[in-house]
Amino acid sequence: MKTDQKKLRKLGRQRCTACRKIKPLGKFYKNSSNLGGRQTECIFCARQRRLARRKQHRIYCRAWEKRNRDRRNRARRLWRRKYAREVNALRRAYRAAKAQETH
Ligand SMILES: [Zn+2]
Repeated sequence: MKTDQKKLRKLGRQRCTACRKIKPLGKFYKNSSNLGGRQTECIFCARQRRLARRKQHRIYCRAWEKRNRDRRNRARRLWRRKYAREVNALRRAYRAAKAQETH
């Protein structure tokens, strides 16, 4: 196993720990804290995992917001109150720019 890895490394290749495919080093993200200086899973697998994780997280967040509706609404109200001035300034600027566009 170890020698296999070394041989692959000499050829500028590495085996992905997720899909088990042997791919060129360019298909792995750099990671200087890893022994080989590369991520152990290929870019494709890393992306898949990231997308799956994001999807899971979105589902989790929706559920959390449903469970904590009052808390979320309170937080939103506070935020709006805190940044009302900034938001209004941005809106004014946006409207002014829009108005100029049409003239
Ligand atoms: Zn892979």
